[in-house]
Amino acid sequence: MSGTKRVQHWIGGKPWDGVAERTGEIFNPATGEVAGAVDFAGPAEVDEAVDAAARAFPGWRNASLAKRSTVLFRFRELLAARKDEIAAILTAEHGKVLSDAGGEVQRALEVAEFACGVPHLLKGGYSENASSGVDVYSIQQPLGVVAIISPFNFPAMVPLWFAPLAIACGNTVVLKPSEKDPSASVAMAKLWAEAGLPDGVFNVVHGDKVAVDRLLEHPTVKAVSFVGSTPVARYIYETGTRHGKRVQALGGAKNHMVVLPDADLELAADAAVSAGFGSAGERCMAISAVVAVDPIGDDLVAKIASRMADVHVGDGARPGCDMGPLVTAAHRDKVVGYLDTGVAAGADLVVDGRKHPVDGAADGFWLGPTLFDRVRPDMSLYTDEIFGPVLSVVRVPSYEAALDLVNTNPYGNGTAIFTDDGGAARRFQYEVEVGMVGVNVPIPVPVAYYSFGGWKQSLFGDAHAYGPDGIRFYTRTKAVTSRWLDPSHGGVSLGFPQNV
Ligand code: NAD
Repeated sequence: MSGTKRVQHWIGGKPWDGVAERTGEIFNPATGEVAGAVDFAGPAEVDEAVDAAARAFPGWRNASLAKRSTVLFRFRELLAARKDEIAAILTAEHGKVLSDAGGEVQRALEVAEFACGVPHLLKGGYSENASSGVDVYSIQQPLGVVAIISPFNFPAMVPLWFAPLAIACGNTVVLKPSEKDPSASVAMAKLWAEAGLPDGVFNVVHGDKVAVDRLLEHPTVKAVSFVGSTPVARYIYETGTRHGKRVQALGGAKNHMVVLPDADLELAADAAVSAGFGSAGERCMAISAVVAVDPIGDDLVAKIASRMADVHVGDGARPGCDMGPLVTAAHRDKVVGYLDTGVAAGADLVVDGRKHPVDGAADGFWLGPTLFDRVRPDMSLYTDEIFGPVLSVVRVPSYEAALDLVNTNPYGNGTAIFTDDGGAARRFQYEVEVGMVGVNVPIPVPVAYYSFGGWKQSLFGDAHAYGPDGIRFYTRTKAVTSRWLDPSHGGVSLGFPQNV
């Protein structure tokens, strides 16, 4: 059955009503059915959106901080009021269960909440009498039109890691969301409009590489915030910076959870299952490698495996489901491929997700939680970001070996250590080369008033997302040195200015 939903661009405060040359299919991953189609932008539609954002910029830049924060407060309230509605959209197109989708909206809301404090966040410095009769101060000004390019796995949260702060700082936005689950972005555009954001400040263009490439080369786009896989993140960073833009490009991950022998193994096993299989492992902060430090491997694997049977896999819209389908059939097939490869490479397949019962339609994109033990660092189970419900246990002899494993991995997004030893945890936090660290917390996503970002190949650029880094990324600082003439003003001097 083919659905009739059509998802349009949102340009200049309204849906784009042209005829798209190309469109993409949108699936319901829990049924396998096509739910509708999304318009794909070509360069002309991208230009239309950038032009709308450029026209809106002078007015929005000039909006007082009081006016901007009023709009942000309203947006935050609307998002809270429509949380269930947005969560249902996420579940229908992404597949994640409703409670997880609600959690995603909640995290997005917290960034909007942080952005409500924009008058405080944009305070500059002021030095009176830096030189005699001379005052120096700094002001933070917006960049202009900024682009956001987001992945499929957080269709509401990732765009809202960026948009509230970009807008709060006085910029105007063109968002290019994932073509796999595009409806949430349009729902958000409507909320912005309802909140009183002037037309053209927040625009959405849908599509693929064609739209992205036009944004990357468009001379009016001043900055790009990207989240997605590492190869594309690298491409975005290199291409965007080559075109003179400020770029932050967050990439993929392989997150390790180190379990020391003194850890509470019940807590660790709960955490491994929650962080490994939540959202079917399609989270950039999901745990995909559990590093069991000798001699606890057997115990830990048994405790994890025993919990997995209780994970209720099914249609995310049905009450009681813990884990939904994968996002597309192609992605499910790719993830399933790792099961055979893992067995062939010699890893122990402890729990085979293909055999897990499913509470959903036969044609949904299912794979149950899967556990491998005795995974070695040279196996594709370990080297690749699988981005599915496949958890690998790697056994190591010592803390040092665990640390070495994490630090030699090319990714550095999140990691966690489970231990009862405060000294060991403190040492790990000091030594580990990863951007976000959890101590007995498996998914250490920072709260909105810190910043989110990985190290190494998990982030290209020097600014993390949201929090203080978000404000820095979306503004440029101007330092003003001022002297109001007084009787001490005296004549021409060709010497370098001295502070006296
Ligand atoms: P993706 O890289 O395939 O796509 C991300 C965005 O880039 C989409 O909007 C897509 O349309 C666009 N895109 C895809 N290929 C492109 C190309 N060749 N040229 C230009 N644009 C292109 O990622 P995805 O599959 O949508 O999302 C999953 C990935 O995102 C995983 O690797 C995950 O780890 C990562 N992710 C990272 C974080 C983080 O904070 N580091 C957060 C969420 C997701």
